[in-house]
Amino acid sequence: MVEQEIQDVEEALGIIYNLREKGNNALESARDILQHGVSDKILKTLLEKNYVRIEKEHLELTPAGEEIAVSITRRHRLAERLLADILSVGSEKIDSSACLMEHFLSPEVTEAICTLLGHPRLCPHGAKIPPGPCCKKKTTTVPSLVNTLAEMSVGQKARVLYLAGLQHSDIHKLLSLGIIPGQEIVLHQNSPAFIVKAGETNIALDKEIASKIYVRPADTH
Ligand SMILES: [Zn+2]
Ligand SMILES: [Zn+2]
Ligand SMILES: [Zn+2]
Repeated sequence: MVEQEIQDVEEALGIIYNLREKGNNALESARDILQHGVSDKILKTLLEKNYVRIEKEHLELTPAGEEIAVSITRRHRLAERLLADILSVGSEKIDSSACLMEHFLSPEVTEAICTLLGHPRLCPHGAKIPPGPCCKKKTTTVPSLVNTLAEMSVGQKARVLYLAGLQHSDIHKLLSLGIIPGQEIVLHQNSPAFIVKAGETNIALDKEIASKIYVRPADTH
């Protein structure tokens, strides 16, 4: 396949992965979305190359298609996190920039970005990032620029980046206490509970909650 064709196949399989995640992979609408999002011929190409199959009027991924779809989705969502958290790119530009980057990330670079970001589980839109080998090993050959509040050392300063995997009620509580993206915090104590200072307020958190607050430590850059 020529480069453009590879990118189109990746793009299309990523779209199908997204549609299936939302339960929107009915053949008719999926065909439309692929036509507008990629090209007229892409569905034919995917069927010929055995990346997708049609089952009960739905578009399904074959194992070969699934492998590429997982990989491109992982690269796209990690690129989004990188753009949002480290490069502070505005939310309206995140998706299109990630879409350009994803095709050029080699497996090595993808792992390095994932490690740098502390193996994030969700993209900025709240979609799951498929884990890679580095997430299972929790590789730290490059120092993470992002970690969780639970991993901070006492006295360390950090900036809150995002909250992931918390109940809505917990998120509301944290936001009302001042644990909001962009807020600077200092960890005062990590046992028996975590105590952080956000602005003028001291906030006590249990470990379970602290491990779902992602921060960028102030002294690593
Ligand atoms: Zn894309
Ligand atoms: Zn996203
Ligand atoms: Zn990882």
